[in-house]
Amino acid sequence: MTGAATLLSDVFGFDAFRPGQEEIVHAVAEGENVLAIMPTGGGKSLCFQLPALMREGVTVVISPLIALMRDQVRALQEAGVSAGALTSGNTPEETDAVWEALERGELKLLYMAPERLAAGSAMGMLRRIGVSMIAVDEAHCVSQWGHDFRPDYLRIGELRRTLNVPLAAFTATADIETQAEIVQKLFDGQPPRAFLRGFDRPNIHLAFAAKDGPRAQILNFAAARKGQSGIVYCGTRAKTETLAQALREAGHGAIHYHGGMEAEDRRIAERRFQQEDGLIVVATVAFGMGIDKPDIRWVAHADLPKSIEAYYQEIGRAGRDGAPAETLTLFGPDDIKLRRSQIDEGLAPPERRTADHGRLNALLGLAEALDCRRKSLLNYFGETDATCGNCDLCDKPAEVFDGTTAVRKALSAMLRTDEWFGAGHLIDILLGNRTDKITQRGHDSLPTYGVGTEYDKRQWQAVFRQMMGHDLIRPDPARHGALRMTDAALPILRDEATINLRRDSIRSAGTNRRPAV
Ligand code: ADP
Ligand code: ZN
Repeated sequence: MTGAATLLSDVFGFDAFRPGQEEIVHAVAEGENVLAIMPTGGGKSLCFQLPALMREGVTVVISPLIALMRDQVRALQEAGVSAGALTSGNTPEETDAVWEALERGELKLLYMAPERLAAGSAMGMLRRIGVSMIAVDEAHCVSQWGHDFRPDYLRIGELRRTLNVPLAAFTATADIETQAEIVQKLFDGQPPRAFLRGFDRPNIHLAFAAKDGPRAQILNFAAARKGQSGIVYCGTRAKTETLAQALREAGHGAIHYHGGMEAEDRRIAERRFQQEDGLIVVATVAFGMGIDKPDIRWVAHADLPKSIEAYYQEIGRAGRDGAPAETLTLFGPDDIKLRRSQIDEGLAPPERRTADHGRLNALLGLAEALDCRRKSLLNYFGETDATCGNCDLCDKPAEVFDGTTAVRKALSAMLRTDEWFGAGHLIDILLGNRTDKITQRGHDSLPTYGVGTEYDKRQWQAVFRQMMGHDLIRPDPARHGALRMTDAALPILRDEATINLRRDSIRSAGTNRRPAV
């Protein structure tokens, strides 16, 4: 049986589970009866599609919406999964093809409209083909009191009894009456394993910081938590080794872990982390799946994770016991550049790349958030009624200022040089530095030359980073990472919008500028 994590990335192209998915996938794959309530857009379909691939035989998916079924079948087929649908919208050829695939035992997912269950022939067919489980999408349609009632959903209970296979029911409708009705009608009143919790992990403190001497930042964070179990995630294998070494030199128990290690060494590291008290593991993302240690007290990211999903999953390894746990995620312009180029240079098809940029943007938005991080995070996953009081911005709100002028100057420096340069050179232009590159290219005669002396280099770096965080600019891989403007920047350039920047990394000139030497 292929592991869930491998299928998640190889078939679906995702780097991490979303909140709730991992637990649900495991329960469904193990053949438990499941009722899962997830917000719309939370990623329900993966919770039956992935287990379907882990189990022998066909998974029957009952779904009320023909268009949605067809979309899902097409997406699965594109990902190389054998899936088909039996709906009233089929052409006879399509229906024949589905039957043939079923007879040959090739189909992994069979989508059916509930109306199909009314035909006696369908029941007979399903009995013959070796159904391994039933997944019911939009399970609230079984509720007679709800507005989406579909009488044919009442046949699903009979189908489950006839086939005697596990059933997993999914819905976004969480009220108690509907839940009770689902349990009654689909599970004959036998309570299934229920996943009804929200995705919030209120005991986990969330914090981000711009990189500013990152090694010292991690060492300080660990020093304040000496003797507690923690994980430091790094972007590269080499860094796990050097950072673990630095932590040991600072008197911590620390080991490294990455995918390039021998399987046996990895097992030893995992076992030590599980068993020893207060050990720190410095790891790549290869570490974590299958680690079941409830008392991990902190998780730090020495480099920015890949996506908002990866972030949630990685910090979610802390504080499983419910006791307070802390996190710190560091980020800098190089991380953003690296993550963008990983997406652009990857082999994924264009739509997936656009989606990947979107997931990275969501994380950058969280990094540069102006108020409560938990609210932004849970909002992204569809939960809108979160309360917090347990993140760095609830502790101490970010100070903001109107950064429109600074952003316009930066954009202007980019446009005057035809978007062919990176932040370093653009900052030299803004500061009026007379470097060789500047004089060779005649950039000292640009109108933007020297217009940015109110800030120093570090402050301009922070402006560019925040502009990336707001997705106003992106490095273009086709131009060796030169910064280019996105459409989101147009309104600012045209004077139609203003933009707030965080003050913490851009303190005003005069207060912290070192005298020129
Ligand atoms: P729902 O049925 O819960 O409304 P979907 O199953 O349609 O939601 O998923 C919503 C979106 O989330 C889809 O675009 C899907 O590709 C994406 N998605 C699902 N799981 C993940 C994941 N683990 N990582 C990234 N994106 C995901
Ligand atoms: Zn908060």
